[in-house]
Amino acid sequence: MSAAQGVNEQGHTVEIAAPDIEPYREGNTGVPFVATLDSGTEGPHALICALMHGNEISGAVALDHLFRQGISPQRGRLTLMFANTAAYGLFDPAKPLASRYVDEDMNRLWSPEALDDANNSVERRRARQLRPFIDAADFVLDLHSMQTGRRPLHLSGPTDKGRVFARRVGGAATIVSDVGHADGTRMRDYGRFNTPGTIQNALLAECGPHWELQTAKTAVSTAYRFLSVLDLLSPDAVPEWLEDSPPAQTWIEITDRFVPETRQASFARRFDGLDIVADAGTVIAWDGDREIRTPYDDCVLVMPARRLLPGQTAVRLGRHRGFDIDAG
Ligand SMILES: [Zn+2]
Repeated sequence: MSAAQGVNEQGHTVEIAAPDIEPYREGNTGVPFVATLDSGTEGPHALICALMHGNEISGAVALDHLFRQGISPQRGRLTLMFANTAAYGLFDPAKPLASRYVDEDMNRLWSPEALDDANNSVERRRARQLRPFIDAADFVLDLHSMQTGRRPLHLSGPTDKGRVFARRVGGAATIVSDVGHADGTRMRDYGRFNTPGTIQNALLAECGPHWELQTAKTAVSTAYRFLSVLDLLSPDAVPEWLEDSPPAQTWIEITDRFVPETRQASFARRFDGLDIVADAGTVIAWDGDREIRTPYDDCVLVMPARRLLPGQTAVRLGRHRGFDIDAG
């Protein structure tokens, strides 16, 4: 992780350098930028994905770190995957928002319908290359960063098993349980990850604000936590700085989303993420003439977007719920 590169013309501070991932192009799987480390013994197949969004470089920092440490699983298999390498190749610290994807959002394509259709975007072609690894993985950690909000989030998906797994991975993240987006399926919601009663599980980790040094550190520590929980790393392979954290006592149940229908959508005031709006019925946004109100007291606003666009999630609405005492 190298030093600050200053504030660019778009007003964003890019504190971390995008690592050179060219050494990982070859991999060992026949698919570029995908490597599988096999312990040769029984155990789960874990997969860590970085760069589902090409400009979320903290995930690439974490995988680069793991490769440089020469980690190897003590059981099972570990696949390390750089997803949207085409978009990442376009990353420019002067315009860091521009390289989220090339043709379309790769994290909206993880359904058989989208993967099997005739569309041949850059992202669909890459997702089809990656699909067999996601099909084969028992546990997936998908490393992201975010546009608004400071506190890391574990997006656990809608099931009990997803929430319990997010809690076991732990760290300083707030657990958010949701069903994803209106405009396509996330990788974490793909296949058996949301099927109750199967072991397969996935966690989407929003490690903090885009391009901050602390976000990259959180991505590294989240990767270690994930591997530790699965017993893929022996305790002495886990760095000492990986601090203990008390298990989360609550999680946020997402009950509603605001998805604008018009190009005249705006928030009623600035929201920074995890804002709590005390009173039910408070207007939080407008979509043309339509008022968007909170459905209940103490409504939590999760990941408000900076730009409100028709058809794209502008903010999720939820409420805190307690974990059962014996959960996970
Ligand atoms: Zn992302």
